[in-house]
Amino acid sequence: GKITDHLAALGPNSTYFSLEVFPPKTDNVPPAHLLPVPPGTLNLHARLERMSHALHPLFINVTWGAGGSTASKSLQLATTIQRDLHLTTCLHLTCTNMSRSILDDALAAAKEAGIRNILALRGDPPRAEEYGVLPEEEAEFVWAVDLVRYIRKTHGDYFCIGVAAYPEGHAEGTAPDIQDPLHDLPYLVTKVEAGADFIMTQLFYDVDKYIAFEKLLRSQDSLKDIPIIPGLMPIQSYQILMRTTKLSHATIPDAVMDRIEAVKGDDEKVKEVGIDVVSGIVERLKSETGLARGPRGFHFYTLNLEKAVALIVERTGLIPDVPKKVIVSDVTDPHATAV
Ligand code: FAD
Repeated sequence: GKITDHLAALGPNSTYFSLEVFPPKTDNVPPAHLLPVPPGTLNLHARLERMSHALHPLFINVTWGAGGSTASKSLQLATTIQRDLHLTTCLHLTCTNMSRSILDDALAAAKEAGIRNILALRGDPPRAEEYGVLPEEEAEFVWAVDLVRYIRKTHGDYFCIGVAAYPEGHAEGTAPDIQDPLHDLPYLVTKVEAGADFIMTQLFYDVDKYIAFEKLLRSQDSLKDIPIIPGLMPIQSYQILMRTTKLSHATIPDAVMDRIEAVKGDDEKVKEVGIDVVSGIVERLKSETGLARGPRGFHFYTLNLEKAVALIVERTGLIPDVPKKVIVSDVTDPHATAV
């Protein structure tokens, strides 16, 4: 179903969470005669099945490679999650440097699979020196808002549409010095006015910045009531933390950095501290950002790993109560029965 319908059924004082996965890399593909599905994908399916039974995420996001580079694998994974695992699925789509036909095919395939949610993104900007002047049909999609408009124009209200936002400002490759939420704000408003139903954020570790950001968004009339889902990445290792925060231009507060640095040689300790840090962020947001505007959600960038996120949602009480005795087919999506 649509994420917004699930949220409406949750009630204003509840909490929920979502998980993000990506299609496993092609490197894992064995010779075609050995397996119908690459082992990486099989592992992920099993992992998702376990996690959905134990943790009950409200929905699962599937990422999309820039320019459609993972189109068929993203669609395959999203279809499996929606259709075979019976989990509410949100498919990411990027629009820049993409031909309209890839988008049309992806939207049609999503609809065919019963997927009702799309995260509408721009993707990495095409670099003029690499691509030359864009052909007319590709120049149709320059910003994420163009995709939001296109989905609404071609599919009406069939899809629940999410858009991205950046608590510390979006760092544009061509203008890295502009990284300020105030700079992005008018464009975020435009995306929502064009028909977006929810906002999902870039990962962050600085809660103060996130809280200020949410407050800024709520000061805008058109962003008063829209669900805003903060993006959190469990800390899997020191190297991954450094790499992902650099790529996403997220700052690590000194207090967090000091704790991580103190154990940086020991992966297990880093993970433990990370669980503590991210759980702390969840607890703080639960208590400080209020639930008055509807259920409080959290989005976890899982990197296809299950342990850390499982420990965080368990510790912070994000796992929803589900009926003790349920038929197996209902277990996978406890929310489905409520809508
Ligand atoms: P936009 O909303 O178009 O904004 C991009 C930049 O342009 C911002 O700086 C904005 O301020 C500015 N801007 C917007 N409109 C205008 C305008 N009219 N005039 C001038 N400036 C404007 N990438 C992938 O490739 N695949 C994924 O699956 C993926 N998933 C993501 C999930 C989340 C939750 C987030 C936060 C990001 C994800 N990304 C993904 C990354 C995303 O594609 C990049 O951050 C991209 O550079 C920006 O996308 P956007 O949708 O925010 O773009």
